[in-house]
Amino acid sequence: MRVREDLVDLLQSNEDVLRWLKQAGFPVPAFSRKAKPPALLGSARCLRENIRRLLEKRKLGKRGDPAILNRFLMADRNYAQLMWRKSRFTIETVRLHETAESILAPIAEAAADLLTNANFELVKRCEARTCVSWFCDRTRSHRRRWCSIETCGNRHKVAAYRKRLRDHSSRR
Ligand SMILES: [Zn+2]
Repeated sequence: MRVREDLVDLLQSNEDVLRWLKQAGFPVPAFSRKAKPPALLGSARCLRENIRRLLEKRKLGKRGDPAILNRFLMADRNYAQLMWRKSRFTIETVRLHETAESILAPIAEAAADLLTNANFELVKRCEARTCVSWFCDRTRSHRRRWCSIETCGNRHKVAAYRKRLRDHSSRR
């Protein structure tokens, strides 16, 4: 994301990737103390770049190369299990988190679903010139322009206000 004019990568360590998975509502693996968790950072950045390129191409109606994303989909290791919970059966998904790719596979799945099924009229890039974020416009009017009103939308309003002031004073 942008912080003022600088591009800041919020993913700087394996812990950052785990934190992001949790925040975004993806399954987070639990590691035993003895087992060394797989190195997630490089894989997460690599998948992120591939998804970003696929989004940009898809937005232009062009074919992107899904080879990297497909590698993550291929690494997915999960299976259904019938479990007894609160006096009844439920089906639960068990995920085997053996590799970085298998841990990040649900993100690849979500991206594949978006690229396949989303209405790309509503998948937009934030209009702020220096912002790199994308969002899906779920507003009723479909006129959303910024990733966040608090940051980019507000910055736009302040800049427009300053410009009006400048135009006004130069006219006098
Ligand atoms: Zn933005």
